[in-house]
Amino acid sequence: MKVLVLNSGSSSIKYQLFRSDDWVAIASGQIGRIGEAEGDLKMEWIDADGQSQCSKDNRPIPAHQEGIDHIVDKLQEQGVLADVTELSAIGHRVVHGGPHFKHPVVVDDEVEAEIRSVIPLAPLHNPGHLAGIEVARKHFPSVPSVVVFDTAFHQTMPPVSYRYAIPEYLYTEHRIRRYGFHGTSHQYVSKRAAAMLDKPLAECNLITLHLGNGASAAAIRNGQCVDTSMGLTPLEGLVMGTRSGDIDPAVLIYLWKNLDLNAAAVSHLLNRQSGLLGICGVNDMREISHQAEEGNKRAQLAIDMTLHRLKKYIGAYYAELGEVDAIVFTGGIGENSVEIRHGACEGLKRLGIEMDEAANAERIPGERVVSTPDSEVKLLVIPTNEELEIAQQALATVS
Ligand code: AMP
Repeated sequence: MKVLVLNSGSSSIKYQLFRSDDWVAIASGQIGRIGEAEGDLKMEWIDADGQSQCSKDNRPIPAHQEGIDHIVDKLQEQGVLADVTELSAIGHRVVHGGPHFKHPVVVDDEVEAEIRSVIPLAPLHNPGHLAGIEVARKHFPSVPSVVVFDTAFHQTMPPVSYRYAIPEYLYTEHRIRRYGFHGTSHQYVSKRAAAMLDKPLAECNLITLHLGNGASAAAIRNGQCVDTSMGLTPLEGLVMGTRSGDIDPAVLIYLWKNLDLNAAAVSHLLNRQSGLLGICGVNDMREISHQAEEGNKRAQLAIDMTLHRLKKYIGAYYAELGEVDAIVFTGGIGENSVEIRHGACEGLKRLGIEMDEAANAERIPGERVVSTPDSEVKLLVIPTNEELEIAQQALATVS
């Protein structure tokens, strides 16, 4: 049997098809620019001879309905899916599950309504997810649609972590609290870390660092999340590609009062024009490293600020957990940047954190240990695989 994973955005759908006996991704693709004059269609798949194939196409995809039809047609045309009865489940990524969802669930009308009710908390994401879910349910009523939430893994946080120190009614009446995001990634790498440490996950204390264009840290005690850096929205926490991360809330008041910026403008400024981009004009860490090497001071400051914030979180989570088995690096930067991993761990020997610089400098793909054999805290690089985690959780939910 097979599991299809859909990540539907407002104008795009990303997808992967997994074989559930060995969890190999036999096809993946993306449809972009839904609703525009010309859509971008890409698919890669493994053919009957085990060879990788790919195709690209441009044609109008007016709405999610045509997008999902196209995906299923294309999977069938290339012989990777005989027909929809081969699907055990469709797993949908949903960024925000609000306070309600602690686990993945099979979608019914009530679940859809609940996801809709948290649109004010995730206006950029949940409407696109819902569009994909509605079409999948309508077109393939015999295949269960399962929603897997980015927030769910963080639902084990205690109130000391998830509450803001603001009047209580804002929490009780308006659901303003910290939720955390990237949960599927933190959960996936936690499981893999436990396997690498050869320890049950329920006995592992971890600091997981998802460092990509969006970035977040999580503190995991006995396999469960007890704190994470993102909050009500994915804006809080680390310095990110274009997001500010932690900031004095009075900055917003200042912008509003003195620069006459309204809510939309402040949101744009903090989500899209800040972070690395705001500091040095570039949000791609590869380019920033290159510029810093050439002596660009703003690029160097962007790296230094990224590391400064990262170290604050590592220190805070270390203090929260008391004992740490491993620190895990994942995401485009965490998996690939020798410099950021080095900088994040530099000078932390007294905390039992000792990097093996040669192992860290090796540019090899896959899971690996980059700490010295004597390091009390293991340092692990683990490529994330959110789609696989969604597929496995979707199948577990329907079974
Ligand atoms: P993601 O959002 O997980 O795809 O990560 C994107 C970020 O990873 C971008 O800032 C990229 O510049 C960064 N990245 C990807 N490869 C490398 C690399 N080899 N060295 C440094 N940063 C990288």
